[in-house]
Amino acid sequence: MIEITNLQKSYVTGNTSLHVLKGIDFSVKEGELVSIMGSSGSGKSTLLNILGMLDEADQGTYMLDNTPIKNLNEKIAAQYRNKFLGFIFQSFNLINYKTAVDNVALPLYYQKVGRKERDEKAMHYLEKVGLADWANHLPNQLSGGQKQRVAIARALASDPKVLLADEPTGALDTKTSYEVMELIQGINEEGRTILIVTHEPDIAEMTKRVVNLKDGRIIDDRLVNQIKASAHV
Ligand code: ADP
Ligand code: MG
Repeated sequence: MIEITNLQKSYVTGNTSLHVLKGIDFSVKEGELVSIMGSSGSGKSTLLNILGMLDEADQGTYMLDNTPIKNLNEKIAAQYRNKFLGFIFQSFNLINYKTAVDNVALPLYYQKVGRKERDEKAMHYLEKVGLADWANHLPNQLSGGQKQRVAIARALASDPKVLLADEPTGALDTKTSYEVMELIQGINEEGRTILIVTHEPDIAEMTKRVVNLKDGRIIDDRLVNQIKASAHV
């Protein structure tokens, strides 16, 4: 589903350049649940943004479903984002003056899906995240965990093949974090590919594979089962 080779990225500010990704190679198969771990500033968001086509690498290749993602025109790029990618953010990024159901329907509106189909799909995904009864509430009437569930429903609305989540539990308490991760695990079990950026080992442990980033390089890439087995010897 995702294959990156020798990915490099620097940020240039004035006359200083910060080499953030120094050659990243990894691939993700369809149906995987992977976490990208690393301390603050290690380049996790930079990597996820490139995978999400929100940013471009300076060097290296990125193949999404066997198609090279490079120099695509805006229209093709948008089609790819819609078909393949759904985003979840730490701060939920909901529209405050729109109800839960309208927030979920928004990506479909931008994709010019008709009103009836939009509303049906939005309700379907709200039910899926357990919030059917909250459809007409505004974000400020919802708890943090509920807001993230709405954001997850919104990410699913266009039925993308891959979900990309940047610190999805970063703004939630421990119990709510586990609940949101259990929801994400369930979505993965239905076959959807999911990548989660986190700096919390407990959250990474709830995925199936942990890719560890340090100083712009992958220093470890193992299945959670392997990590657990080696921790118990
Ligand atoms: P993480 O998500 O692991 O905390 P980031 O990918 O956000 O790390 O950032 C990696 C490094 O790149 C940090 O030192 C950060 O300050 C820097 N950085 C991130 N985005 C930009 C940008 N747009 N311009 C300049 N520097 C940036
Ligand atoms: Mg980050």
